[in-house]
Amino acid sequence: MKASRALSKLSDLALQQRRRGLAKMLPPAEETLRGSLIERYLTCGNPSCKCARGERHGPVWYLTITLGPGRTTSAVVPSELLERVRHWIENYRKVKGDLEKISEINRELLRRERKKKPRD
Ligand SMILES: [Zn+2]
Repeated sequence: MKASRALSKLSDLALQQRRRGLAKMLPPAEETLRGSLIERYLTCGNPSCKCARGERHGPVWYLTITLGPGRTTSAVVPSELLERVRHWIENYRKVKGDLEKISEINRELLRRERKKKPRD
Protein backbone atom coordinates (compact mmCIF):
# COMPACT_ATOMS: atom_id res chain seq x y z
CA MET A 1 0.00 0.00 0.00
CA LYS A 2 1.21 3.50 -0.73
CA ALA A 3 2.20 5.53 2.33
CA SER A 4 -0.18 8.35 1.49
CA ARG A 5 -3.12 5.91 1.23
CA ALA A 6 -2.20 4.44 4.63
CA LEU A 7 -2.08 7.93 6.12
CA SER A 8 -5.58 8.72 4.90
CA LYS A 9 -6.92 5.97 7.17
CA LEU A 10 -5.47 7.52 10.35
CA SER A 11 -7.22 10.08 12.55
CA ASP A 12 -5.96 13.66 12.80
CA LEU A 13 -4.76 12.92 16.30
CA ALA A 14 -2.87 9.80 15.21
CA LEU A 15 -1.20 11.78 12.41
CA GLN A 16 -0.22 14.57 14.79
CA GLN A 17 1.22 12.05 17.25
CA ARG A 18 3.16 10.30 14.53
CA ARG A 19 4.49 13.66 13.33
CA ARG A 20 5.55 14.63 16.86
CA GLY A 21 7.28 11.27 17.36
CA LEU A 22 9.21 11.65 14.11
CA ALA A 23 10.24 15.22 14.93
CA LYS A 24 11.37 14.23 18.43
CA MET A 25 13.55 11.41 17.15
CA LEU A 26 15.32 13.45 14.46
CA PRO A 27 19.10 13.11 14.76
CA PRO A 28 20.96 16.34 15.55
CA ALA A 29 21.29 18.40 12.37
CA GLU A 30 24.89 19.33 13.16
CA GLU A 31 25.83 15.63 13.00
CA THR A 32 24.80 15.00 9.43
CA LEU A 33 26.80 14.44 6.29
CA ARG A 34 25.59 13.87 2.74
CA GLY A 35 27.58 11.31 0.80
CA SER A 36 28.55 7.65 0.65
CA LEU A 37 31.46 5.65 1.91
CA ILE A 38 33.32 3.61 -0.66
CA GLU A 39 35.90 0.96 0.14
CA ARG A 40 38.89 0.51 -2.15
CA TYR A 41 41.89 -1.78 -2.32
CA LEU A 42 44.86 -0.23 -4.07
CA THR A 43 48.14 -1.06 -5.76
CA CYS A 44 51.12 1.18 -5.00
CA GLY A 45 52.99 0.70 -8.27
CA ASN A 46 56.05 -0.95 -6.72
CA PRO A 47 56.57 -4.11 -8.84
CA SER A 48 58.20 -6.00 -5.95
CA CYS A 49 55.38 -5.22 -3.49
CA LYS A 50 52.87 -7.88 -2.47
CA CYS A 51 50.14 -5.76 -4.08
CA ALA A 52 51.69 -6.45 -7.49
CA ARG A 53 50.94 -10.12 -6.82
CA GLY A 54 47.30 -9.42 -6.06
CA GLU A 55 47.49 -8.70 -2.31
CA ARG A 56 46.30 -5.13 -2.54
CA HIS A 57 46.62 -2.45 0.15
CA GLY A 58 43.56 -1.46 2.05
CA PRO A 59 40.82 -1.03 2.67
CA VAL A 60 41.08 2.70 2.00
CA TRP A 61 37.81 4.49 2.62
CA TYR A 62 36.56 7.39 0.55
CA LEU A 63 33.73 9.77 1.19
CA THR A 64 32.06 10.37 -2.16
CA ILE A 65 29.62 13.22 -2.69
CA THR A 66 27.50 13.93 -5.73
CA LEU A 67 27.68 17.65 -6.55
CA GLY A 68 25.38 17.62 -9.54
CA PRO A 69 24.54 15.57 -12.60
CA GLY A 70 27.68 13.60 -13.41
CA ARG A 71 29.78 15.53 -10.90
CA THR A 72 31.17 13.87 -7.81
CA THR A 73 33.99 14.59 -5.43
CA SER A 74 35.68 12.26 -3.00
CA ALA A 75 38.22 12.39 -0.23
CA VAL A 76 40.02 9.78 1.85
CA VAL A 77 38.53 9.17 5.28
CA PRO A 78 41.22 8.29 7.86
CA SER A 79 40.33 5.15 9.81
CA GLU A 80 40.03 7.07 13.11
CA LEU A 81 37.24 9.18 11.55
CA LEU A 82 35.49 6.32 9.80
CA GLU A 83 32.92 5.57 12.52
CA ARG A 84 32.00 9.24 12.89
CA VAL A 85 31.58 9.68 9.14
CA ARG A 86 29.51 6.50 8.93
CA HIS A 87 27.29 7.72 11.78
CA TRP A 88 26.84 11.19 10.26
CA ILE A 89 25.88 9.71 6.89
CA GLU A 90 23.30 7.52 8.65
CA ASN A 91 21.97 10.60 10.45
CA TYR A 92 21.69 12.49 7.19
CA ARG A 93 19.66 9.70 5.59
CA LYS A 94 17.44 9.44 8.66
CA VAL A 95 16.81 13.20 8.80
CA LYS A 96 16.01 13.23 5.10
CA GLY A 97 13.70 10.22 5.33
CA ASP A 98 11.92 11.47 8.44
CA LEU A 99 11.41 14.96 7.00
CA GLU A 100 9.87 13.30 3.98
CA LYS A 101 7.48 11.36 6.25
CA ILE A 102 6.57 14.51 8.20
CA SER A 103 5.99 16.28 4.93
CA GLU A 104 3.58 13.56 3.79
CA ILE A 105 1.66 13.80 7.06
CA ASN A 106 1.42 17.57 6.67
CA ARG A 107 0.17 17.17 3.11
CA GLU A 108 -2.54 14.82 4.36
CA LEU A 109 -3.52 17.23 7.19
CA LEU A 110 -3.67 20.15 4.72
CA ARG A 111 -5.85 18.10 2.39
CA ARG A 112 -8.27 17.47 5.28
CA GLU A 113 -8.38 21.15 6.25
CA ARG A 114 -9.15 22.11 2.66
CA LYS A 115 -12.02 19.63 2.70
CA LYS A 116 -13.41 20.97 5.97
CA LYS A 117 -13.39 24.60 4.84
CA PRO A 118 -16.66 25.58 3.12
CA ARG A 119 -16.20 27.08 -0.31
CA ASP A 120 -17.06 30.76 -0.82
ZN1 LIG B 1 52.04 -2.15 -2.79
